[in-house]
Amino acid sequence: MTEHRIPLAGVIGNPVAHSRSPRLHRHWLRTYGIEGDYLPLHVTEDHLAQVLRALPHMGFVGVNVTIPHKVAVLQIADHISDRATLIGAANTLIFRKDGKIHADNTDGYGFISNLRQHVPDWSPQSAPSVVFGAGGAARAVIVSLIDAGAPLIHLANRTRPKAEALRDEFGARIQVVDWVQAGNVLEAAGTVINTTSLGMVGQSEFRVPLDGLRPGTVVTDLVYTPLRTRLLDEAEAAGCITVDGLGMLLHQGVPGFERWFGVRPEVNDATRAAVLA
Ligand code: NAP
Repeated sequence: MTEHRIPLAGVIGNPVAHSRSPRLHRHWLRTYGIEGDYLPLHVTEDHLAQVLRALPHMGFVGVNVTIPHKVAVLQIADHISDRATLIGAANTLIFRKDGKIHADNTDGYGFISNLRQHVPDWSPQSAPSVVFGAGGAARAVIVSLIDAGAPLIHLANRTRPKAEALRDEFGARIQVVDWVQAGNVLEAAGTVINTTSLGMVGQSEFRVPLDGLRPGTVVTDLVYTPLRTRLLDEAEAAGCITVDGLGMLLHQGVPGFERWFGVRPEVNDATRAAVLA
């Protein structure tokens, strides 16, 4: 007789107590009446491989991965999706029935889905994009913008060589702009994205001059604490269409939840409220 098993998922990180993913996935589990749970799992680098190999034997169907493990899990996974390979990091693991670990990256999917939900006629093909930052989140954003047909991406990062390395890796559609000159390329932009941690609670403010922003430009900030950043406030005052970063977090959870629990969850006002509660 096969024993009835309750499917478990979770988020692996260090630290992990701040993660909003447990609220998100538990909300969906409740909403869809699914018997299961989602737990924050504090795991140090030394124990990462050991923990990942043990979890499938404890009822886990998969996990999300957050700082600092997003790159290291690629060394442990048995299969890596094309998008995780391109981005060079994974945020979603699926523990398959055959015992193999499949690694995926859904950050770019979350980024694009958030913009499409809030700006249904958003068209990344029609004008250049401007990306601030060249860290892990920027990689996911750039890969997904290229995939969505963006013709030109102006990339500005405080540490310029990191932006140049991304251009060398992802190709000619990326044009590196000096951090202090970045205000100059805003005028022609269709989409502007802050992928740096500037503006986040406890970090410095985002202080790039924004007077080049034009009405109708779509401006989004990956920072979601606070929800309304200075960038979004200034962009709104300039007549831009602004989209906060919380939706990206919600949407990036969709593919994992669907693979683990068999239901594709909806991202709506109740989802936002549950995560903000
Ligand atoms: P990361 O890899 O550490 O990269 C940090 C980026 O911020 C780098 O480009 C860094 O520039 C820049 N930066 C940091 N301090 C700066 C300063 N004082 N002045 C100018 N630039 C500065 O981090 P990440 O994983 O890409 O995450 C970046 C942000 O995105 C975080 O706030 C994270 O919470 C957020 N995020 C949100 C979502 C979402 O779902 N909404 C998803 C992923 C990430 P240098 O290269 O010069 O250091």
